[in-house]
Amino acid sequence: MAVTKKHSKKRDAILREMLATTRHPGAQWVHERLKARIPDLSLGTVYRNIGLFVQEGLLRPLGVINGEERFDAHVEPHPHRVCISCGRIEDVPCPNEALLKRLHGKNAGGPGGFQIDFRKTVFYGVCPHCSDQGT
Ligand SMILES: [Zn+2]
Ligand SMILES: [Zn+2]
Repeated sequence: MAVTKKHSKKRDAILREMLATTRHPGAQWVHERLKARIPDLSLGTVYRNIGLFVQEGLLRPLGVINGEERFDAHVEPHPHRVCISCGRIEDVPCPNEALLKRLHGKNAGGPGGFQIDFRKTVFYGVCPHCSDQGT
């Protein structure tokens, strides 16, 4: 993997913003947060940098939630819960994390030599904020 020496201010700001939140943001949220401070920051630049961070292993893609690709700066595997109403994504504490971790890597996924590279556990439901509305 090529290591780039060019550390732009924009790149640093985007990464810092994503590391500072637990909300598992998408590019639009980051752009929204930064554009007051960096007026010439385009949404395309945010997308491009996020793509690079994913390649470099600094962010983990979570897939499309409510029409937007979302990302996690906490790259160790862990389960998530997703609100299907507002798109909120939260970490779920996993009591068996140590056990699940042992299933990663070469020949760890049971007989047959299957190499486990990653896993994705997502619970879907409605968050307390959304279930309060309308009741
Ligand atoms: Zn919700
Ligand atoms: Zn997470």
